Amino acid sequence: MNDRTLSFLEFVAPGVRSLRPYEPGKPLSELEREYGVRDAVKLASNENPLGPSPRALEAVRAVMRELALYPDGNCFELKAALAELHGVAPEQITVGNGSNDVLEFVARVFLQPGREAVFSEHAFAVYPIVTQAVGAQAVVVPAVNYGHDLTAMLARVTGRTGVVFVANPNNPTGTWLKADELRAFVAAVPGHVVVVIDEAYFEYVDEPEYPDTTQWVKDYPNLVVTRTFSKVYGLGGLRVGYGVSHPAMADLFNRVRQPFNVNAAAQAAAVAALSDHDHVARSVAVNRTGMEQVTAAFARMGLPFIPSVGNFVCVDVGRPAGPVYEALLRQGVIVRPVGGYGLPHHLRVTIGTQVENERFITALERAMKD
Ligand SMILES: *Cc1c(COP(=O)(O)O)cnc(C)c1O
Repeated sequence: MNDRTLSFLEFVAPGVRSLRPYEPGKPLSELEREYGVRDAVKLASNENPLGPSPRALEAVRAVMRELALYPDGNCFELKAALAELHGVAPEQITVGNGSNDVLEFVARVFLQPGREAVFSEHAFAVYPIVTQAVGAQAVVVPAVNYGHDLTAMLARVTGRTGVVFVANPNNPTGTWLKADELRAFVAAVPGHVVVVIDEAYFEYVDEPEYPDTTQWVKDYPNLVVTRTFSKVYGLGGLRVGYGVSHPAMADLFNRVRQPFNVNAAAQAAAVAALSDHDHVARSVAVNRTGMEQVTAAFARMGLPFIPSVGNFVCVDVGRPAGPVYEALLRQGVIVRPVGGYGLPHHLRVTIGTQVENERFITALERAMKD
């Protein structure tokens, strides 16, 4: 290091200056390095414990022969498959390097200093990050029963509002919104405000009143619905997600995205994964049984939890959760502290395989005795 001063710090964009970086789940390799633990289990990032579909893996192997070539910048095949799945035109699909990429397009297109983004307390951490990164103001609306208060959120929409972010279900709380209340909300938001409905856990939700809001895009041109291949499809490591919107909005997203934002392996794997309905069904079934296993253990232990429709659940450990998290790490179990989400007494655990869940339950029982 030389002794020149860091004078560039003076010119850091104000939103970036106050930004807190996203805290990801601890990677297995890091735990094994730091704690010397072997056979650790990671239940920290809502990944699919079954991994990807074998069809997706085969598709990735086939792509390896062509890795010198740039990917299809327009994601032709993947858009065609997604358009068919949702009954929309390919021009309505925006593919991202993860759905987080699409959330960032929304912020870059529709937010700027002087504009506001409305979202709920305890909502997904990427919403404040993309908002602040472009210098816009976050308007955080207090939650009710850990879930979105749509009435209060609507009341905070003004002429300054550029975007409203709604996570359905929400991460980390696992709370969800019913079709009628959410539809009434979307209908009431003025047309100049972009409504993002983030459906990262769509496939896991088994509730008759839970909506598929991709079907609402034809009625609301200010709506964009995001989905991902990182969760039930088990492709988090490849980074691919997408938005469904009016073509005029997708056109704007395409102006700000990097020309080759989605890599070739991700595109091929995503197309293949979409065709494997059995793998999705199996993953959902494993999650349902695992959710029962884990929440039954919480009940046995007398620990309150937030009922969740996703592949994760937040448990209230009744004290600052940091030491419990640490005690779990020492036993080789990685979960997610959610103090940064305003839930300092909760831990979020991803539902794993039966064996992984049992490891977690045993470790938690021990940790709670400490
Ligand atoms: C995991 C998650 C995503 C997905 O992010 P990717 O960038 O697609 O991996 C989006 N929204 C929520 C609420 C999530 O929990």
